[in-house]
Order: sequence, then C-alpha cells, then structure tokens
Amino acid sequence: FLMLGIESSCDDTAAAVVRSDGEILSSEVTGQAALHAAYGGVVPELAARAHAERLDIAVEAALAVAGTRLAELSGIAVTAGPGLIGGVLSGVMCAKGIAFGTGLPLVGVNHLAGHALTPRLTDHLPYPYLMLLVSGGHCQFLIVRGPDDFRRLGGTIDDAPGEAFDKCARLLALPQPGGPHVERVAAGGDPGAIRFPRPLLDRPGCDMSFSGLKTALLRARDADVAEHGGLPERRRADLCASFQAAVADVLAEKSRRALAVYMEEEAPTAPSFAVAGGVAANEAIRSRLETVAAGAGARFIAPPLPLCTDNAAMIAWAGIERIRAGHRDGMDLGARPRWPLDTSSPALIGGGR
Ligand code: ATP
Ligand code: FE
Repeated sequence: FLMLGIESSCDDTAAAVVRSDGEILSSEVTGQAALHAAYGGVVPELAARAHAERLDIAVEAALAVAGTRLAELSGIAVTAGPGLIGGVLSGVMCAKGIAFGTGLPLVGVNHLAGHALTPRLTDHLPYPYLMLLVSGGHCQFLIVRGPDDFRRLGGTIDDAPGEAFDKCARLLALPQPGGPHVERVAAGGDPGAIRFPRPLLDRPGCDMSFSGLKTALLRARDADVAEHGGLPERRRADLCASFQAAVADVLAEKSRRALAVYMEEEAPTAPSFAVAGGVAANEAIRSRLETVAAGAGARFIAPPLPLCTDNAAMIAWAGIERIRAGHRDGMDLGARPRWPLDTSSPALIGGGR
C-alpha cells in the first residue's frame, strides 16, 4: 500500500509517498534557509507561516512525482512532534484536512522515531539495533526494539554536535550551516594542534556535553588573534581540525560504551549500529564510528544523506510501521512541542506541554 508522509517540525517543508515494501516513490523537501538567513537562526513564527503556505504545494508535488492520487493512498502519516509548535500544527492540520476529506487513516509520528526507523527503510535492518541520532538539534543513543519501543541509553546534556559545529563556524567567520565548512577547512589543519576538552569522558555512561567546546574554541581563537593580530588561515584550519577531533573522540568513545550495553543486554543475533542526522555526513566522524562498530562486531549503517536529514519519507515509513502495528489516530491528534521517544504517550490535544 501507499503512505503519504508530511513533515514540518523545523525549517523543512516536506511531503513524500512511500510504498509498504520500502520503495520511495517521491520525497519532496523545501528548505527555508533564505527566509531565516538574516536572523542567524530559525524564526518559529516565520517558519510556521511558510509551512502553512507551502504544505499543500509539497503534497501536490509528492503525489505528482509519485504518479499517484489521494484516492490511491492507504494512509496519511504526519509529524506530530517534537518540534517548533507552529510548524507541527500546520502539518497536523494539513494531514487532518486530507484525512477528513478522504476518510483515509491518519497516524501521528514522532519526528525522532522517523529518524530512528530510517535504517529499516533503507537497509531493512532487523530489530533490535543501536542508533546514534546526531543532528543540529539532537544527540542521543537509542536501542530501537520496535516501531514504538525505544530505549534511550544517553545523550547530550546541553548542545547537539551540529549546533556546536554551527557555533564553531560562526566564531571562525565561516558560512552557515557550519558543519560542512568546518569539515572542509579542517582537512587542511592539524587535529592535534590544540587540545580541546573531551567533556564527560571521565564519567561512566553514555551522556555527552558539547557546550564547553565553544568556550574553549573562543578562547583559543582570541589567543591566536592577540598573538598574530588576526587569524592566519593555517591557525583557522588547526582550530577546525582540533575541534572536529574533540567531537569525534567524544562520539566514538560514547558509541563504544553504548555498543557494549546494546551487545550485553540485547544479545542481538545480527548486531547493527546505525547513525542518522546531518552530523553523520561528516567523513571524519563517520569513519571513527565505523571503526568502533567493527571493533564491537557490529554492522555499521549510515543511510544516504537526504534520508539522514529532515524529510517526509522517513515519516511515511514510520507511519507504515505504526499502522502495521495496529496504531491509528483520530481527529483528536494533537501537536506536541516536546515528545520524548522512550515514552509512548500519544499526541493528544491538550496532551502536549
Ligand atoms: P533536527 O533534525 O535535530 O531537528 P536539524 O534539522 O538542524 O535538527 P539536520 O538537518 O539533521 O538537523 O542536520 C543539520 C546539522 O548537521 C547542522 O547543524 C549542520 O552543521 C550539521 N552538519 C551537516 N553536515 C555536516 C558535516 N559534514 N560535519 C559536521 N556537521 C554537519
Ligand atoms: Fe530532524
């Protein structure tokens, strides 16, 4: 059967049609970078208005590219949280309108579950697998046991690594989003030039912290500027390389611990470690994680980038899995700004915080 997916929880307006065997018939994503560029971050009110204007266009495009019509669909899946509430509401109202008009089943999806279930769409990964979700807004280890069964092993206690990369870029006068630029400049630098902190590595568990890194980077940059009367290209490259090495070290060591817990407590027959989120695009980080997975005897999976970052195909797929598991939402489906993955509480009106 065919599932329509709708995603509007941050700054991407997305719609997709996915078949129940995992074939992606269409995946339309419209970003809002230009809209928010002047503000140095996503402005929630502007994002919500843009979603409201563009969602029906995205849905029409997704149907057209897939060569299908509403009448041929079997259901509608929509991100019901967590995210910027205005955007989530726009998506939920759009999905409800279509469900009301067509009588199709409606299913609300947790955005994080969408990311976490992506390796099942791309690689038919069997449960349970370990997932590192590492993006601009999130950083957490999850054992994925089923479409509605997630165990969180730990995560960042402050910034997400993508956010840290973006701040690093800002401090070094590189464009946004910063990750790819920091990676490019880092390639010409020495990762051992500056010893940045590796927070929380001395403590047990899988929690991480990245906010201290930017303060350390700021200090190192200012010292360089004071010494050289500006920031020489070579020092900028060293700062980027050293920063990236610190993030990679923390992610690698915490992944090693998370894998140990996963192997020990789940005793998986086909051990797998999957990553998702924009930071997984970073080659230096990716190769470190690959090594860690190999060391633990686990298969390493990194879905193609367009499916790692925000998209609606992952929402359609999560909807397919949820509907298969017997879930279905009614017209009381609400939008939740917060929705932790390891509680299965439904997104009901008034249920959000
Ligand atoms: P979320 O999905 O958690 O709400 P988001 O939409 O900001 O957040 P993504 O689109 O998954 O997250 O990823 C964007 C983030 O990934 C940005 O912070 C960006 O800097 C970072 N990023 C992208 N490419 C790279 C790279 N090569 N190296 C490091 N970071 C990267
Ligand atoms: Fe996301």
